Amino acid sequence: MKFGTRLVQFDAAPGDPLHPSATPIYQTATFAQEEADAFGKFDYSRSGNPTRKVLEDQMAALEQGTRGFVFASGMAAIATVTHLLSAGDEIVADYDLYGGASRLFGKVIGRAGLSVKFVDAQDLVSLDAAITPKTKLVYLETPTNPLLRILDLAAIVEVAHRHGALVCVDSSVMSPYLQNPLTLGADIVLHSATKFLCGHSDVTGGVIVVKDEKLAQEIYFLQNAEGTALGPFDCYLVLRGLKTLKLRIDAQQANARKVAEFLAAHPRVAEVNYPGLPSHPGYELQHRQANGPGSLLTFRAGSRIAAKRIAEQTDLLKIAVSFGSVNSTISIPAAMSHASVPAEHDRSIPDDLLRLSLGIEDADDLIAAFAQTL
Ligand SMILES: *Cc1c(COP(=O)(O)O)cnc(C)c1O
Repeated sequence: MKFGTRLVQFDAAPGDPLHPSATPIYQTATFAQEEADAFGKFDYSRSGNPTRKVLEDQMAALEQGTRGFVFASGMAAIATVTHLLSAGDEIVADYDLYGGASRLFGKVIGRAGLSVKFVDAQDLVSLDAAITPKTKLVYLETPTNPLLRILDLAAIVEVAHRHGALVCVDSSVMSPYLQNPLTLGADIVLHSATKFLCGHSDVTGGVIVVKDEKLAQEIYFLQNAEGTALGPFDCYLVLRGLKTLKLRIDAQQANARKVAEFLAAHPRVAEVNYPGLPSHPGYELQHRQANGPGSLLTFRAGSRIAAKRIAEQTDLLKIAVSFGSVNSTISIPAAMSHASVPAEHDRSIPDDLLRLSLGIEDADDLIAAFAQTL
């Protein structure tokens, strides 16, 4: 089955004799057992829940993995990955990470005796040099956010695996429609389901998908041991959102392209960064390893004040952190989503940088809004 077909053609309720078209919400903590000394398929929702299982299986299929796991948030999924490591182990991470991931790596994991080294993962020589026998995990996002650098997944996997390190890719910016890191050799792909997977700004959730059965068992163990799984109602909402993933992203990407072209041609805009523009340094690579450039773009306003004015005066767009929803949003990463990045990991995000997440509005309205503000 092709991707768009799989999004809507799957067993919504395995084993249910009524064959409901939508997955029922099993809003229950416990499941009665038929025998006192043997568990059924489900016993306790922290350990497993039928609504969650449908979503986890669907995510595994969409990412071309074997097992999927869903969590209360993207950060819970990332934290779970760090718990695969033990005191003394080290993570080598690309320096341009989601602010919450930078905060977790910079301020939390040290308490468990883990350390992190930040590198520029576009530079394979320095990546190779940074990995030591203590390095158990190479961690990255591509396209990076907010700088939208494109990292060469297959090449990074080759370097990391040569040293015996696992590779985890946070693919939230792409979704499984546009990029499948497991097929390029990555060991773990994760998502903030809060973004494109849900797509409607009404759930926080996280996803991990792996191929390797031993890794799957370890992640399942952590999900159950730490009690971090996504609740049944939120699983239902993500399942509902997922069905239109392809339609949404096709529309959002088409809008991103039009807005990027409009901004790039506008005399008051200094610099537009969108992997779908041939002028983007990662254009070729993105084309090779992904099925599209996505719907995030950034541009520079020229000054902090100008950025603030544009964000506040483009009335059609709400100022909001996050991205990937059906409505377009605008943000100033230096002041918002990435304000929690510790100074020592500063990648100098320019303070006049505006990030747009394009939604499914009519492109004419979006362009008119920017034409007026600029
Ligand atoms: C939002 C985001 C996260 C964190 O996800 P939450 O659901 O907010 O916890 C992680 N990685 C990326 C790339 C994100 O954009």
